[in-house]
Amino acid sequence: MILKLKSVTKDYIWGGTRLRDEYGKKGDSQRLAESWELSCHPDGMSLIDGGEYDGVTLRDFVEKFPEIAGKKCQGEIPVLIKLIDAKDNLSIQVHPDNEYARKYEGDNGKTEMWYIVDCDKDSSIIYGFKENLSKEDFCRAIDENTLLQKVNTVPVKKGDVFLIRAGTLHAIGRGCLIAEIQQCSNVTYRVYDYDRRDNNGNPRELHTEKALDVTDCGKMVLPNGGIQGNTLVECEYFRVYKENISGNGNVHTAEESFAHVLVLEGSGEIISRDETYNLKKGDSFFVTAGTQWHIKGNCSIIYTVV
Ligand code: ZN
Repeated sequence: MILKLKSVTKDYIWGGTRLRDEYGKKGDSQRLAESWELSCHPDGMSLIDGGEYDGVTLRDFVEKFPEIAGKKCQGEIPVLIKLIDAKDNLSIQVHPDNEYARKYEGDNGKTEMWYIVDCDKDSSIIYGFKENLSKEDFCRAIDENTLLQKVNTVPVKKGDVFLIRAGTLHAIGRGCLIAEIQQCSNVTYRVYDYDRRDNNGNPRELHTEKALDVTDCGKMVLPNGGIQGNTLVECEYFRVYKENISGNGNVHTAEESFAHVLVLEGSGEIISRDETYNLKKGDSFFVTAGTQWHIKGNCSIIYTVV
């Protein structure tokens, strides 16, 4: 079975208007920072869009029919998939691993991956430190406002992929439009926010102590070698693939896991034995485990399985 999903949008101070203008996303404010494309997290849940289950949360649906998530998932959707439009720099932040998050936050840890859907010519990201630091060095850099000199700033281009493991300090830079696939978690420890103020004129909260607990302070080296074929990332939490389609795309079936399809560009149809949906840029589909599916048209997608 294929379900079309309706996303949940979030307005944060660094967001832009591209998700609304180019990807057809809707929300209460003009600015849309994030669109949660696949989420069963209590902070924002995807809804089924159309058909017999129109308006039902994906979480309720999966609770009712746990087998649709696939054997590997045991009735849970352990990933959260977002589109992120960074008109401005995001805060420098870190996420805890499962052990720490479950102990102190009652949530999962967060390893995430980024696919750079689009970016400005001079866009960059922050990925860990460029030298080995001690916890004391890290703490001092936060206190003395010199963190930006210690971090690894990496220029990016369209199509780049980054796997950001829990414990790696990171930030999305201005001008990046990113597809993010992450563990289902909403725990972020901010350490630097460019001295910005929120809508009420207050600085956003920092979480320096917890960040010091969980951050890997070693020098971070980006794995080189680039992307192998269609595979963007395969890690213990998710596997993410890209497919460029003109005509009939590959036929997929995953018995062990559901699949999530995010359309990055173009238009076409997504087809199973029983259903056909039109698709366009920005659309998201949930394919239940064991369903054979393929896409027809002229488009590029990324799809995620567990
Ligand atoms: Zn993050």
